[in-house]
Amino acid sequence: MSAARSTFEEIGRAFREHQRFAILSHVRPDGDALGSQLALALSLKQLGKDVRVWNEDGMLEKYSFLARAQSLTKPPSGPEEVDVAIALDTAIQNRLGTAFQAIRTAKIWINIDHHPSNPGYGDLVYVDPTAPATGQILFELIKSERLPFDRAIAENLYVAISTDTGSFQYPNTTARTFEIAAELVRAGVDVGRINQQVYENYPRRRVELLRELLRTMRFEGGGRVASFSLSLKTAAELGVLPEDNEGLIDHLRAIRGVIVAVFFEELTDGKVRVSMRSKSEKTNVCAICQKFGGGGHTLAAGARVRGSLAEVEQRILEAICNVVGCDS
Ligand code: AMP
Ligand code: MN
Ligand code: MN
Repeated sequence: MSAARSTFEEIGRAFREHQRFAILSHVRPDGDALGSQLALALSLKQLGKDVRVWNEDGMLEKYSFLARAQSLTKPPSGPEEVDVAIALDTAIQNRLGTAFQAIRTAKIWINIDHHPSNPGYGDLVYVDPTAPATGQILFELIKSERLPFDRAIAENLYVAISTDTGSFQYPNTTARTFEIAAELVRAGVDVGRINQQVYENYPRRRVELLRELLRTMRFEGGGRVASFSLSLKTAAELGVLPEDNEGLIDHLRAIRGVIVAVFFEELTDGKVRVSMRSKSEKTNVCAICQKFGGGGHTLAAGARVRGSLAEVEQRILEAICNVVGCDS
């Protein structure tokens, strides 16, 4: 397990000593990735810095309500001169996508993350696997280094932390998480409004997608393993966007007796995106996903596996059954 190798002080110094920054996060971003990027960008901009905020997929429609969401764009096609590149919430460098090429000239790489599988790439590394969200680490960094902080930053951090803790429900939620949430509310976050935007504003097609996924639902190991899958054909028929399925796997996790929930999504590049959740610390889905080239956390992990939907389903379910013992 990697640990924080650099201090907040060293990272704060790098922020103050340089001028041009690029802030990146992982492909297929979630609320923690996008909220963290925007929060840090806003703080650095207020410090007087020149900040680019790029994500391979651009700003998602579902997170476009975030404060200053429009400042996050897709990366440019050509190279750009920056002094510092910051990777947030990204366990593996190649999950940064093409933005990685755009900033080859960066003098310093800063890696801030909470994935236990993060190998600690970069010059300044702060990986805290005990933090439930990258947004929580950023809050601590901003406060400890007395970096600019306002309501817009607080809103972005609130969404980052809320989405990665399943609305403060998953076991990674600590007393400190609630203390930070209280600070964010004191800084002006409107909890009712923000939660409505995050959790009660889904497009109808997302629920139609859930209906189709439930038709494919299957159980293994006497109900300890639950899965469903999405083919390219069904995705096209429903007209869904990749972002529409974030969180749907929680419907499987929420079933009594289920220990491992899996979602299979056929991709256009001959691979299948596998999303895995565990309800038991004893069943480490990150370890299972790492066998397939993926990673993540003990209770939430993923991988992209080459093969047809049926092949990948079989291989993955077999690997899970080897761990949870489906025959017993
Ligand atoms: P997801 O199921 O996509 O919500 O991802 C759950 C967790 O696993 C997140 O923390 C991701 O960063 C991580 N993860 C997902 N896909 C991959 C992958 N292909 N490689 C490494 N980590 C992944
Ligand atoms: Mn993430
Ligand atoms: Mn995260």
